[in-house]
Amino acid sequence: MSRVYWIKGRSTNIQKSITSKVATILSFEELAKVVVPNQSLALKVNVSELGYGHSLPPIAVNTFFEQAREMGASALVTDTGSLCKGPRFDGHGWQDTAIMQGFGIGDALDNQMMLTGGFTNEEGRFCPSDGEHLGGVELGSLILDVSNLVVFSHVTAHPLIGMVGAVYNLGMGLLTRAGKSRVHSCLEVQFDENKCTGSKVCLAYCPTGAVCDAGAKVSFDKRICNGCLGCFMSCPSGAMSIKPEGIVEFQESVVEAAAVVAKNLRGNAFYVNFLTSVTPQSDEYPFSDIPFIPDLGILASEDPVALDWVSYQMTVRSPGIPGSIAEDLKVLDKGSDKILAITGNSPAHLLEYAESMMLGKRDCEFLISG
Ligand code: SF4
Repeated sequence: MSRVYWIKGRSTNIQKSITSKVATILSFEELAKVVVPNQSLALKVNVSELGYGHSLPPIAVNTFFEQAREMGASALVTDTGSLCKGPRFDGHGWQDTAIMQGFGIGDALDNQMMLTGGFTNEEGRFCPSDGEHLGGVELGSLILDVSNLVVFSHVTAHPLIGMVGAVYNLGMGLLTRAGKSRVHSCLEVQFDENKCTGSKVCLAYCPTGAVCDAGAKVSFDKRICNGCLGCFMSCPSGAMSIKPEGIVEFQESVVEAAAVVAKNLRGNAFYVNFLTSVTPQSDEYPFSDIPFIPDLGILASEDPVALDWVSYQMTVRSPGIPGSIAEDLKVLDKGSDKILAITGNSPAHLLEYAESMMLGKRDCEFLISG
């Protein structure tokens, strides 16, 4: 049975600073298989979309990177670009966004930040998958070459999978653009012209020209839409929605992609979930509302399924924050499923499918480490 470690959120003295918490993570015995002298180590993060205001703490990323290097690992930091044509579309934009969002400023991270699919986010290889949907998916070349992997995930709500965590970042965060496109291909976007206020914010995010300027409003051509969700996430008036029929397939496709990454990784992996600044929007949104639960701390495990399951349970058991969306939706009480209320989706099915794909098990030993 795998272990899930919990490092509590509060920091009441210097020994509980964020840098000390990262040192605690590095002291877990499972890390000895991942942070290995003279072996390459990819630290997967999501630098978040430009404008998202509650991303992973850069100090935690920088500290982990520095300490892993001091322990002899050849550490680098990686991420994937966005499928929509936002600021993170290619390597140039992604680097700029990472810096704007607080990652890799100056000498921090020693310029060892790179997209998993190279500068274009298109370098990679098709790898066959098990499961019902994908048949295979394009992994970024970096993840195929690296020895070991640590995935830092910022836990948030997500409109399609309920909750962002380790499985989602493993499944979506290490693919090339073609790979992400393949996973998104089951999604169908719908446009409600009556809700369109003509802000035209979405035009900057559409990579295919499916949304076009049509005078007072935009027009939408679903035949050339790739389901990237850029318009859905950026539209301030909710004119874009996602057909519910494709959502379960999307969840299962994410799991299948995660299983391909796990299968093709040359070495070992470890997962760290940050239950801090847990917002109703995921890091892919160009904005973020205030968090809806208090900071619960950091969870870590070598099992991504157990880790996400415990993370989800903790969001349910936590009280909500007054004044947040949790109050709007009347789910402030401990025991109310805030993720389900916010997104209409629970991560339970995704994690059940992940277990059936042998990605991990929800059953685990829960250890409090600080
Ligand atoms: S119309 Fe389709 S391709 Fe264009 S931004 Fe929306 S989801 Fe993406």
